[in-house]
Amino acid sequence: MATALKRKHTTPEQKVKLAPMSFQKAAVLRRQYNEEKPWWRRAAMGFLFSILFVAAAVLGTFLLRSILPTFRFPSAFLLMAVLFVSLIWGVAPSLLAVLISTLALDYYAIPPTGVIKVYTLDGLLQLIPFVVSGFVIALITAQRESARMRILGAEQELQERAEDLEQANLHLEETNQQLKEANQLKDRFISIASHELKTPITTIRGQAQLVLRRLSKQNGNLSPEMMTMRSTLEKINDQTGRLTSLVDELLEISSLRSGKAELRKKECDLVEICRGVIEDQQMLSNRDIRLTVASDKVMLLVDCDRIAQVIVNLVSNAIKYSPERSPVEVEINSQQGNALIQVRDHGKGIDKDQQKHIFETFYRTPDAQSSAKFGLGLGLAISKDIVERHGGRIWCESQVGKGSTFFVELPLK
Ligand code: ADP
Repeated sequence: MATALKRKHTTPEQKVKLAPMSFQKAAVLRRQYNEEKPWWRRAAMGFLFSILFVAAAVLGTFLLRSILPTFRFPSAFLLMAVLFVSLIWGVAPSLLAVLISTLALDYYAIPPTGVIKVYTLDGLLQLIPFVVSGFVIALITAQRESARMRILGAEQELQERAEDLEQANLHLEETNQQLKEANQLKDRFISIASHELKTPITTIRGQAQLVLRRLSKQNGNLSPEMMTMRSTLEKINDQTGRLTSLVDELLEISSLRSGKAELRKKECDLVEICRGVIEDQQMLSNRDIRLTVASDKVMLLVDCDRIAQVIVNLVSNAIKYSPERSPVEVEINSQQGNALIQVRDHGKGIDKDQQKHIFETFYRTPDAQSSAKFGLGLGLAISKDIVERHGGRIWCESQVGKGSTFFVELPLK
């Protein structure tokens, strides 16, 4: 604490101002301060001892005067008495000591002895230096006491704050535990719900596809009623397709988060993975997807399917969130022991504030939410999880109106 206080003094602009103490608080502190003293240092004992000390000082003065041929400092012993009293018992007893020793000095030491002269001008002038010295001693003692009281107050305040902090900490730990439990419950719910949904959705889709296949065999001669039925079934097929991919994403994130999904690492070529993904995505979307590679092979020791899944997420997002006629660019480089994949689009871009959140589960930008683009906000969270489990990094750089580039860095084999 001492060093901390010292540091505060060295930088005055950082000085912490103590709040002025209220009278009530000062009174409480004074009481506490007095109660902490041993019985013999309490003020009542101080008054008694100041009389005894002054008496001893007078005796000492007489003794020296009788021993020494010349004795010039009759006030020395008395001043010493005042000093001791103030040092041991504080202000009030020291003031009493000043008063009695002034009277004693007046009575025994200043000629003519045996009479009180303090009320005469001569007596007063002779006594003033002694009285002033006594008061200065009492004043210094008062300052010392007040400083001690302030320290006591500051210590108490510190203790109160420490207790408050401890309480807040306990509360925080409790809240954290509750949050953890709620999170686990949510993950379990997502996992159970997705499992339960998967079977009926697959059955509905399978049935719809079966009937669609049968209908397609009689292509030419479908009645108008059958044509309506076919278009309804096609819609069911589309929507259940979306639901299937949603459920798959939900299952995926819950298995990744619970640590159930193990990585099956093997040696694979990143260029080959990207080529495969680009081919598929080109076929599905009819978009212009360009690949730039610095070398023919970039070998990694990774779970190839999972890394392919990351590239699919990034490329399909680039396709989804950019105009149909704009190209999507994929670039692979290797540098300083890492492979760097960049997926660039020329879409609307992502606002700086939103960039911080896009890797969070279920986060979708307001733009994406208000658009017809379908999504759950899980793809990037899954990708981040996968990349980080491989010891890599994923991030985004984007400028509104110019497009976005997603970066994936993975350690080379
Ligand atoms: P979603 O299923 O919604 O696409 P993602 O986790 O893949 O979920 O992406 C999260 C959000 O990040 C998206 O909803 C979208 O708002 C934003 N986003 C992702 N990729 C891009 C991109 N290439 N351009 C603009 N916004 C993007």
